Amino acid sequence: MARETVARPVIVWFRKDLRLDDNRALHAACASGRPVIPLYIREPQEDGTGPLGAAQAWWLHHSLHALDAALKRHGGKLILASGHARNVLADIIKRSGAEAVFWNRRYDPPGIAIDTRLKHEFEKQAIEARSFGGQLLHEPTKLKTASGTSYRVYTPFWRALEEGGEPEAPVDAPERFRFPKQFPASEVLTSWKLLPLKPNWAKSFPDMWTPGEAAAQEKLSGFVEDGLPGYSADRDFPGKTATSLLSPHLALGEISPARIWDATKGLSRRIPSDDIVRFRKELAWREFSYHLLFHFPELARDNWNDDFDGFGWREDEDGFHAWCNGQTGYPIVDAGMRQLWRHGWMHNRVRMIVASFLIKHLLVDWRRGEAWFRDTLVDADPANNAASWQWVAGSGADASPFFRIFNPMLQGEKFDADGSYIRQFVPELGKLEDKHIHRPFEAPASVLENAGVTLGKTYPRPIVDHATARRRALKVYSAIKDAA
Ligand code: FAD
Repeated sequence: MARETVARPVIVWFRKDLRLDDNRALHAACASGRPVIPLYIREPQEDGTGPLGAAQAWWLHHSLHALDAALKRHGGKLILASGHARNVLADIIKRSGAEAVFWNRRYDPPGIAIDTRLKHEFEKQAIEARSFGGQLLHEPTKLKTASGTSYRVYTPFWRALEEGGEPEAPVDAPERFRFPKQFPASEVLTSWKLLPLKPNWAKSFPDMWTPGEAAAQEKLSGFVEDGLPGYSADRDFPGKTATSLLSPHLALGEISPARIWDATKGLSRRIPSDDIVRFRKELAWREFSYHLLFHFPELARDNWNDDFDGFGWREDEDGFHAWCNGQTGYPIVDAGMRQLWRHGWMHNRVRMIVASFLIKHLLVDWRRGEAWFRDTLVDADPANNAASWQWVAGSGADASPFFRIFNPMLQGEKFDADGSYIRQFVPELGKLEDKHIHRPFEAPASVLENAGVTLGKTYPRPIVDHATARRRALKVYSAIKDAA
């Protein structure tokens, strides 16, 4: 009697794709009929990939927990292992007899380098290594200018994306899973110590966030129903909840951009097309950032425009410290930095204002701001963060020009006219009338007294004068402009 051949397992290596839905690597592994070993590797910091900072590590903990729970519902589990991917995979292949490793591609430069090396090594060992798309709508090599080069300007990139055909349709989560009878040993999630303990600075994060794929999908459907209508008009106002809040879910791949794109299809009878297009254009900014990172891997380190290499940045420890702690004396800046501290997230308009303040009012190198965001944002993303900081600095591709210096009072008055955002995060100014809340330092003494504000005591005086800082920034900028 012929013995039934036992299929050798396939490892599905989860990275920034912590989901079952629209996960092509998982889908292909399940479709192959082989037992699947779901694996997450905690790669060492020095490998330069993986969770970016402390706030995202908090998210990662909960996301891995959620993925494990989802796999358990199908009779499987998530195997956790630490170390260089090459060693971990070799070890699991040896212990499990796996004959294949599938993964979804990542596009951060260290990640690409690791994956390319691994693919070559597996080829030599006759281990089947297959990689799939899914982190982006399109592969970063797909969209090219007429002369065959990569894009440097967003608008033609968007046009090419729009005209380049629909992204591949998302694939549903597999219905049938097959798992090995015996799993390789797994490390224990709590031993990774991803959560802060003393002090637990993330204690307010759960007020705003529920990590995991199920929450991401719920958020998407809620947003399409309630948030998308009016998105275009409201998205710039930080006091409203008018954006999707999907960025941290996207950052760790709990939901795919193709699934989001797909959810915006077929809505034009119910939802104004302006809103749909505007939202898609934001997803396209994410694509553009990855396009830039892919073609310029030093995006987080080097000025994209090297005219900025000689820029006269200042060492301003006190200023940087005040900025990080939301103590600059400019209410909209302080509200943003405190929102970041409290929720690990900040509204996009306010990100632009605080970044402009650090770079232009304080003349602190954009790389310090990028690093602070990387550590404190739950949605820290190697492409979006670096591209956005360079965009504000003026050193990036298709960047906002350096001489466009946001006036924090006017920005506050325009985008938070009733001060509701400021009141939420800077409660010590809560009793100031709307017309004074954006410039308490100009308010009459009696107004301050009535609102219980003592400048320099209950709330800081501005750490720099706006007009003076503006002049100084333009002067420093003119030095590199003249040299260019
Ligand atoms: P929505 O308005 O609902 O947009 C939907 C999605 O589109 C977002 O989730 C995001 O993936 C993408 N998107 C929206 N705006 C942008 C943008 N300006 N650039 C690129 N993609 C965008 N975004 C990150 O995801 N990670 C970061 O680390 C990050 N750092 C930033 C740093 C600075 C200085 C600035 C100015 C912006 C940064 N952004 C970053 C972009 C943007 O602020 C966030 O993506 C957005 O606020 C997320 O909120 P949302 O999901 O509600 O956005």
